[in-house]
Amino acid sequence: MEYRKIGHTSISASIIGLGAEHLDGQPYSVVEETVHAALEQQINIIDLFMPGEEVRQNIGKALGNRRKDVIIQGHIGSVDLNEKYDMSRDLNICKAYFERLMKNLGTDYIDVGMLFFMDSDEAFEQIQANGIIDYALELKEKGIIRAIGTSSHNPRVARKVLETGVVDLMMFSINPAFDMTPPEKDVLDTMEELEKQQYVTIDPLRNELYKYCEQQHIAITVMKTFGGGRLLSAEHSPFKKAMTPAQCIHYALTRPAVVSTMIGCQSAQQVEEAVSYLNATAEERDYMDIISDYQGALSGKCVYCNHCQPCPVNIDIALVNKYLDIALLDTDKIPPSILQHYNSLSVSGSDCIACGNCEDKCPFSVPVIKNMERAAELLR
Ligand code: SF4
Ligand code: SF4
Repeated sequence: MEYRKIGHTSISASIIGLGAEHLDGQPYSVVEETVHAALEQQINIIDLFMPGEEVRQNIGKALGNRRKDVIIQGHIGSVDLNEKYDMSRDLNICKAYFERLMKNLGTDYIDVGMLFFMDSDEAFEQIQANGIIDYALELKEKGIIRAIGTSSHNPRVARKVLETGVVDLMMFSINPAFDMTPPEKDVLDTMEELEKQQYVTIDPLRNELYKYCEQQHIAITVMKTFGGGRLLSAEHSPFKKAMTPAQCIHYALTRPAVVSTMIGCQSAQQVEEAVSYLNATAEERDYMDIISDYQGALSGKCVYCNHCQPCPVNIDIALVNKYLDIALLDTDKIPPSILQHYNSLSVSGSDCIACGNCEDKCPFSVPVIKNMERAAELLR
């Protein structure tokens, strides 16, 4: 397993995480098999947004004395009033459900307390006005949560929540189809209509959001990596080609700031399939076949696909481009961590011999040689 550090915290998450949604409604034997398989595979992060007591208790029981081995994303505001999934922005209800989450799991702390479903301006206003952000801060102050997170499908509202400065981690829906969805469209509404959508290019607001996270040390965990399974089917994918799980996971993991993809599983076999990404070859992970049809619109912009490799002097071109993109967000305030990461590379932009091999291979006409020079100038 590989691990990536969560922003400012001292916690590192496995790049493949477990989305527990599909365990809801399953008998304990299924929950136990899946959770134990995840632990066996060294998965150490679980998203647990479901408000139901039974599934929470089953997960707590399956974890047993391995509780300390996992990072739990627990959601503040996920409720099942009237016995159906819902959300609440009422402080007392949020508190009651969050306390009940710990009780159900048999724990006295939650690793990441998530501000749940920040998809609308109204939700953002309510968590401020109703004291829910203050509640999360208080939980963190008391050590009941180790980090504050948020979950969202909307890049514009997510950015507002992140700009409060309180968030360490954001769970966001990322896949090539959603990334090409304009921000004014709700990806959850368009899930059913992905096929009908006009795909033009990667939405700049989403792209900026990921770069902003990297700049601010806010980790991203990914939901909807497979677009609800549609991207895995040529019939249902908007691209009319089936992606493989490895391609979808690799696409998510190569966005800036992403630390983990939360893959929904309900058997040991599904956990093993998700983790098999780690053994996939570069060719098997390569998602270029899917997005290359949009290369005109993406012209000049690096999508971090690594199609330009190999570089004769071994520059990790995608990574240098990623650091450069973040530095260019504000050249007067380049995050020290980006400078540090860049300067710890054994070969970097200044080693470019301008052979041009990469530019010949890049499907998006990225001016790599110029970018390497710019990176050397700005980041060294
Ligand atoms: S420079 Fe081109 S080929 Fe290389 S990672 Fe960026 S987009 Fe991909
Ligand atoms: S132009 Fe520079 S970055 Fe590109 S392949 Fe040649 S040496 Fe590597």
